[in-house]
Amino acid sequence: MHDARTDYDDLAREWRALRALGVRVREIACVGAPRTLLVAEIGDASAPTVAISAGVHGDEPAAPWALLSIVRDGLLDPRFAYRIWPCLNPSGYVAGTRSNAEGQDINRSFSRGGTTPEARAVLTANRDRRFLLTLDMHEDFEADGCYVYEPLRPGFSPKFSPLVVRALDDAGIPAQALGDDFDLGLPAGFDAGAMYRVERGAVLVDYEAEVRAFEGLPGSLASMYRGTPVALTFETPRPRPWQERIAAHRLFATAVLAAS
Ligand SMILES: [Zn+2]
Repeated sequence: MHDARTDYDDLAREWRALRALGVRVREIACVGAPRTLLVAEIGDASAPTVAISAGVHGDEPAAPWALLSIVRDGLLDPRFAYRIWPCLNPSGYVAGTRSNAEGQDINRSFSRGGTTPEARAVLTANRDRRFLLTLDMHEDFEADGCYVYEPLRPGFSPKFSPLVVRALDDAGIPAQALGDDFDLGLPAGFDAGAMYRVERGAVLVDYEAEVRAFEGLPGSLASMYRGTPVALTFETPRPRPWQERIAAHRLFATAVLAAS
């Protein structure tokens, strides 16, 4: 493993330090659990707003650090306002586990107002907000390249995943070769062929089929369900060097925002 930094207190401290740059950083309670979530706001809330999250799985550490670097280095397009969730699973992050301290996968808990303390906190905070776009940053243990999930409503063609793959190619960062044998981590019984079309570096998702299939919705699908037009999920390969994974997330965010 080539992971450079993993301490949650360091991450939280570095986010609070961004207040000096005008980033509005606060902590919100997770009702029913002894922990808080960091949330950061940038820009005027009357502007079209982009939501960005990382760390919903606690064992994917490059994503939260990449998100921090994106904000700190001013890579966010100023045409938009931002609501940012720096690390959606602090207890899993500290323990190095995919799930939270209660053993729940938060990214399967965004149905029915949220079925984990973390999802409830996010959905409550987002209740009156509308988003132009949501980005969710992950890592994949088994991949050796990067890839993006692009859910498509009926009749839509992929817009963002080709741009992300091109940006990766330009930078010489490998995009994942995806074939029908690639493990997308689906529960047993899922018919992946009915829901997903894979290309190099991209999983094109039939949004309606996936919403029907998931018992507990991932945050990205729940956001689309609530009207967000585009919700992208990006995965970096955890076996690859830390710096490459950080760079890949930065490319993902900037390529997508530039095209939005
Ligand atoms: Zn993940």
